[in-house]
Amino acid sequence: MTKPDTADNENTDAPPERLDFVRQIVADDCTSGKWDGRVVTRFPPEPNGYLHIGHAKSICLNFGIAAEFGGACHLRFDDTNPVAEEEEYVHSIQQDVRWLGWDWGEHLYFASDYFGQLYEWAVQLVEAGKAYVDDQSAEQVSANRGTLTSPGTDSPYRDRSVEENLDLLTRMKAGEFPDGSRVLRAKIDMASPNVLLRDPVMYRIMHTPHHRTGDAWCIYATYDWAHGQSDSIERVTNSICTLEFENHRPLYDWYLDALGVYHPQQTEFARLNLTYTIMSKRKLLRLVEERLVSGWDDPRLPTIQGLRRRGYTPVAIREFCKTVGVAKFNSTIDVALLEHCLRQDLNKHSPRRMAVLDPIKVVIDNYPEAQVEQLDAINNPEDPSAGTRQTPFSREFYIEREDFMEDPPRKFFRLTPGREVRLRYAYFITCTDVVKDADGNVVELHCTYDPATRGGDSPDGRKVKGTLHWVSAAEAIPAEVRLYDHLFTTEDPEDVAEGEDFTANLNPDSLVTLTGCMLEPSLAAAEPGSRYQFERKGYFCVDPDSAADKPIFNRTVTLKDTWAKLKKKGKTH
Ligand code: ATP
Ligand code: MG
Repeated sequence: MTKPDTADNENTDAPPERLDFVRQIVADDCTSGKWDGRVVTRFPPEPNGYLHIGHAKSICLNFGIAAEFGGACHLRFDDTNPVAEEEEYVHSIQQDVRWLGWDWGEHLYFASDYFGQLYEWAVQLVEAGKAYVDDQSAEQVSANRGTLTSPGTDSPYRDRSVEENLDLLTRMKAGEFPDGSRVLRAKIDMASPNVLLRDPVMYRIMHTPHHRTGDAWCIYATYDWAHGQSDSIERVTNSICTLEFENHRPLYDWYLDALGVYHPQQTEFARLNLTYTIMSKRKLLRLVEERLVSGWDDPRLPTIQGLRRRGYTPVAIREFCKTVGVAKFNSTIDVALLEHCLRQDLNKHSPRRMAVLDPIKVVIDNYPEAQVEQLDAINNPEDPSAGTRQTPFSREFYIEREDFMEDPPRKFFRLTPGREVRLRYAYFITCTDVVKDADGNVVELHCTYDPATRGGDSPDGRKVKGTLHWVSAAEAIPAEVRLYDHLFTTEDPEDVAEGEDFTANLNPDSLVTLTGCMLEPSLAAAEPGSRYQFERKGYFCVDPDSAADKPIFNRTVTLKDTWAKLKKKGKTH
């Protein structure tokens, strides 16, 4: 039996060779003593969906920096919107961060723990004349915000007295008013060129229970009001976020300065985009809810759980994030690079096995009928310490249907009538006869073997061009094998005709299920989650739904490395 991959969670990553611009900022801060030598980062997901490969980039950056600079990285749930958030997501996010190999230690936080402090600060702004209760509807607020080229219009309630604002805010909190009837807004500048500074909403009324605070609150902080202050409360030094928050920074600065509290440094980097991949949580949710995929852990999804079920390793994902690096401009990364990083890791660690996915039976006419031989097979040519195993060989076995052609083209070097080929680790065989059914389909092949070629070597130096994998028929384990391809047919799934959406680009062949595949018997004990290379066929892993009486394997990735090819030709960066 093969060991499952126990090294999965050991994270001994070295920092990237050259400091990226975010790490350079942290390094400079350490040199200048800006934060008294402290380095505190955080990963702040909203618990409204499952994490995906884009989040992995942010996780590796934040936890990586903390690890490299001897600091801490907080896991904080930005759980300010009770409508979309659920405990299920809180749980899965923690599981995924750990699986990726990171540890927040004691630093697990929730923005909802700060609701009381945030409210006190809101009162402070009201008392300072810097926030007011607005009775306009959401539509009116948004209509009066103006446009990028024209200033907004002051709310008729903008100049309420401090006393009136305090009274209304207290009553909002006490639950006196219905949803949407009032909001608390910061009093900044309705003519600011930055639309986000035009009196942004701080609190909205929502009589909705929260997954952690229950019915305690019926007003909820907006993300923008909660986010920067949460970083401040946690005394984060470097608030690292994606580029779309660049124009939120002046607002976060305004809040922190108006309150006169601790002020972290925000730095923005470009989010990860991948070809053939959708990353928005809202769209992933749609795929799950409309059952266009089997669930959040569908192996075709870019979710961490999907990648995991597909057979990805944490090492491969971390290596990918490191290779991609961080930059200040948006770009789309070729998914072939992710697959390349995966193959590099799987190649080193995956035991090799033989499995025939589309079997055709072969009978060796001159092989003794009841004989079974145990032949030595190498477990991993990349790792001599993996040793060898024994695999049975007998008179009847399976090969891939595509490895035989009755009437082959010139460059076909595999089995064909009259031709000798090698069976890996076994013998040279020559095809002597082809059995067909009434419709002319090949159903069985007859061969002869040369007993002198045991182990797959010829004593007289005779050469053969083809080497085939095979599985002995009597001992073979029938299995289901699921072949996955990109979920979308187009590099950019959003590239659609008018009136269509990204689902129009779903790949109808993204999952092909093969039944009646034949595996070598050593795979009988394969544990769910364990990974193998099926010789000549790709990397595969055991699905969690697999059972002894119904083994299921997922194809993680094929052997063909298109990225390595491009790299050779100098077509990658
Ligand atoms: P949505 O898909 O709803 O916009 P989100 O992906 O921003 O949500 P969050 O839970 O807010 O989800 O993300 C947590 C953190 O992960 C944020 O700091 C965000 O910047 C980062 N993040 C999200 N998507 C990516 C991405 N594609 N690349 C890099 N970082 C990302
Ligand atoms: Mg977000």
